[in-house]
Amino acid sequence: MTLVLDSKIAIIGSSLSGLLAAYALSKTHTVSLFESKATLGQNCLRQSLSESDQVRPFILSRDTDPHLSYVFSQLGIATAPIRQVFPSWMQTLFTGCDLPLGHFSAPTCTFSKASFDRYKDILRFVFHMKRRPKKPPLSERSVAEYLQTHGYSDMFIQDCVVPLGLCILAATPAEILEMPMAHFHDALQTHGMFRMRSRPACRKLMNEAALCTTIRARWRVTCHVNTPIRRIHRDLIGVSLEAGTEKKRFDKVIIATSADTALALLETPSDAEKETLSVWQYGTQRYPILTAAALAHQPALSNLNGQQHSFFCGSYFGLGRPEDAVRATLAVLHHFGTRM
Ligand SMILES: Cc1cc2nc3c(=O)[nH]c(=O)nc-3n(C[C@H](O)[C@H](O)[C@H](O)COP(=O)(O)OP(=O)(O)OC[C@H]3O[C@@H](n4cnc5c(N)ncnc54)[C@H](O)[C@@H]3O)c2cc1C
Repeated sequence: MTLVLDSKIAIIGSSLSGLLAAYALSKTHTVSLFESKATLGQNCLRQSLSESDQVRPFILSRDTDPHLSYVFSQLGIATAPIRQVFPSWMQTLFTGCDLPLGHFSAPTCTFSKASFDRYKDILRFVFHMKRRPKKPPLSERSVAEYLQTHGYSDMFIQDCVVPLGLCILAATPAEILEMPMAHFHDALQTHGMFRMRSRPACRKLMNEAALCTTIRARWRVTCHVNTPIRRIHRDLIGVSLEAGTEKKRFDKVIIATSADTALALLETPSDAEKETLSVWQYGTQRYPILTAAALAHQPALSNLNGQQHSFFCGSYFGLGRPEDAVRATLAVLHHFGTRM
């Protein structure tokens, strides 16, 4: 832990990580928040669109989103129970029963030869994955290679595995199939997909704007919107940020942007920063793509915190979900000896 008392802290980026860090640190420090866009929290907990372009509410579960649930409860943000976890096109696969993939209870369930083969593959997959097979190690093969080697049908891969990944990982179908099987397995496990009973109970956020409005009503933060930071200089005693033609001086900086942006902002990145931040690629929605190289470097990300007066957080510390952004932020707050 880096013991810091009443410091001048700059936070770059006002998505989930930046907003929460600003809120928590402003209780004991002087905080300035910089956002390149015109409004704060624009990327934050917005509703998402399903395949059929229908808006679905922001959903969370205490099991799969423990840190996000903790933050909501600390802030008193209302949530309500919800039954449907996935968009309607996924319902036939998952909802309505206590089986891990609730296929059998779906109203459209039919017993043709094709559907029987698919049910068989679903159950085989669940029992196979539940044991987390050690041979060959899951990390050595991509999802596609692994499933094909184990005799799963193309129909099962395309109709079941890929849609499952799309719900949990927000990656493209090609990215899911190329992902290391170990990572896919861990993502499914995190979401309780291999559990026979007690599937994660989901809740929805009653008001998407609640997080932003609640924390902004309570914080003392100097906010700079429409202010892209161009460069971060670090020296022995602190940091200078270049914003437009101005230079601003701080004791510490928290970089709550994507990994590629964070690296581009650092004037003199250390070897460790170059190595761990340069491996991240981003998809069309600016979600981190979980390539084998990115996953291999992910554990080292937390070692960057506290070096040269800088700290990093964002959803790239995990699977790219809001929960991962919150977990990374709580880890940074821990360095400052504070919590939500
Ligand atoms: C499976 C899955 C489900 C998801 N579900 C949701 C969901 O339901 N709702 C949702 O909203 N998101 C969702 N996401 C997306 C993602 O998890 C969230 O958007 C998350 O909040 C990302 O936050 P972050 O803190 O990592 O910051 P980022 O989203 O990376 O935001 C960085 C911020 O920094 C700002 N910035 C960048 N460069 C600069 C600069 N030079 N100077 C100043 N500011 C700068 C940007 O404008 C931006 O505001 C999901 C992702 C996945 C993978």
